[in-house]
Amino acid sequence: MKTLGNHHHLEILSNVPDTCMIVFDRELTIMEIIDRDACLEELIPGSSALGNIHDIADPVWKKNLMDVCENAIKGSPETRIMQLTSGQVKIRTLNLGEIGGGPAGVLMLQGNTGSQREYGDEMKKEKEEAEETSEIKSRFMARISHEIRTPLNAIIGFIEQLQKTPLNEKQVAYLKIIDKSSVYLLDLVNEILTFSKIESGELQLDEVDFRLESLFRDIYNTFRNRADEKGINFRYSFDEKLKKIFRGDAIRLKQIIINLVSNAIKFTEYGFVELKVTCLKDAGDEVWIKISVSDTGIGISEKKIRDVFTEYKQASVGIARLHGGTGLGLTISKRLTEMLSGEISVKSTEGKGSVFTVHIPLKKSKLKYLSTYTMHIDAEELSGKSALIVDDDAMNRSLGVIILEGFNMMVSMASDGKEAMEILRRKRFDVVLLDIHMPLVSGLDVARFIRNSEKNRDVKIIAVTAEMIREELEHCLEEGMDDYLIKPYREINLFNKLCKVLEVESGEIGGPPLEIRLIEFNAQPLFDLRELKTVTRQNKEFFNEMIETFIHNAERGVAQIRSAYEKKDWHTISETAHRLIPSYKHLGIKKVVSNLIELKSKTQHDPLPDNLSVLISKIERKTKEVTRRLEKEKL
Ligand code: ADP
Repeated sequence: MKTLGNHHHLEILSNVPDTCMIVFDRELTIMEIIDRDACLEELIPGSSALGNIHDIADPVWKKNLMDVCENAIKGSPETRIMQLTSGQVKIRTLNLGEIGGGPAGVLMLQGNTGSQREYGDEMKKEKEEAEETSEIKSRFMARISHEIRTPLNAIIGFIEQLQKTPLNEKQVAYLKIIDKSSVYLLDLVNEILTFSKIESGELQLDEVDFRLESLFRDIYNTFRNRADEKGINFRYSFDEKLKKIFRGDAIRLKQIIINLVSNAIKFTEYGFVELKVTCLKDAGDEVWIKISVSDTGIGISEKKIRDVFTEYKQASVGIARLHGGTGLGLTISKRLTEMLSGEISVKSTEGKGSVFTVHIPLKKSKLKYLSTYTMHIDAEELSGKSALIVDDDAMNRSLGVIILEGFNMMVSMASDGKEAMEILRRKRFDVVLLDIHMPLVSGLDVARFIRNSEKNRDVKIIAVTAEMIREELEHCLEEGMDDYLIKPYREINLFNKLCKVLEVESGEIGGPPLEIRLIEFNAQPLFDLRELKTVTRQNKEFFNEMIETFIHNAERGVAQIRSAYEKKDWHTISETAHRLIPSYKHLGIKKVVSNLIELKSKTQHDPLPDNLSVLISKIERKTKEVTRRLEKEKL
């Protein structure tokens, strides 16, 4: 190494944190290395012992550093970024302008090392904390929703029962109002939940096949009465070209439009409201539709119109008092529209009326037909079956009894977990309807007790709960319950669940009048594709191929495990689980990896008498969910 001489500016530079400096001469001989935080070795292994930039072993490093050093000498210092697996390294140069043997330039390397990494960790921690706060908030919302849904279930359920009794005209009318109001209350709870989910960025879209035409007809029918009552004309038109089956998130789409129509009717006293659906563009698999909701109502002033899509800002406080509302409707509509890759806009003249327009793309479905629903309940098949209802809420308990007795079932009741266990010890049942959140002994405890009991080991269990968090509901299944039903429910929903778990043929009855979506928390993501992305270096085809291979192998493997289980072929189960573990690991599917390891260890030697079937079902269910979601990750 040559001597550096007296360069004060280098001294100043030597105090820059997290940056190491290499001073070089015109021959690229290294004159001095200033490495305050000892990060050079981490960036370029072996470099601290080098005499010349030419001698750097790594060809990529060598080329880049020689380039920048030579350019610096020529008088054009530059900045480059090198991408390493461990992060980025920023390369900068300075021209020191010395000729004849002295230092010609400085190379500065600044990378993701040392205290910078700590800084990164801090950021990560902050991000995690923020996520945690948002999760706490969402859980709090979910908890409130649970508390509201429980009494709402009794209200909606009893209205339905009352409607079956002899009533005079006035009573029928009053009941209708109560029914509408309670469904409205339910919508409100859902709206707030949706909003908090959008806020925390955890909302997931669903795909179903649906008839666009019936979706809009439903909306029209729902609001026709409301418009009639106000004495305004409700016009509706639907483009013939859209009479097809589409695939997408029908509930969200409906939510967007309901918000617009309900506002239009709310803010119009004279004239008409019009809902118009037209086809904008039919481009092969995708169709763009235009939905416009116009009214001749009070309109929105120019000043206020900017804020109508902003949360909590109703166009006018006075108006809000008059009309009620959360001020979230349009915010939700806007965000949902954007999530569905569409656009929403508004035009309005104060005193004349407003037009809200939504443009949205929809995928065409591959289906030609959709099964149709009938609402007639023929409970013949359930007649004589025995059921135990476990619920700490007296109103919901008696609602259940009334409904099941209507199906001619034999019903017993328990008002808490302890009482339930006592009854289950004595008497056999076909099905147990089990509330989850009960004081002292929870529904999960009861389920565990049942699965380990003598008398009712095989009884069907339906969790009946106002819980909406998916992971909590899945937990019920993991504890051996057969299905779940979310409160509030309609009679038809309970009927369908009973037929399903008791394997009774009922034909397809349904069309759930209450739309319910589960809340998902992404605390532990289902999978992690970072490693795969690094390995495939963002090569699309390679990446997609890897995903397809995984899906194929996972589905086949899981099917093999199931069939081996049926043949009691423990060896094959253990082998297959062993074979599957690495590929699940690569995709970061941690939840299933631990299940597979458990399965492998349980079947390695003589199988434990443990309930292997529950474990295998878990693996099957989660794999299904993973493969479904992975399909969407393909590039
Ligand atoms: P809210 O729950 O208050 O109806 P929205 O987000 O749906 O909340 O609407 C925000 C505000 O925009 C309303 O309070 C109202 O002042 C105004 N607004 C929305 N739609 C209309 C309409 N069709 N005509 C007049 N004003 C409207």
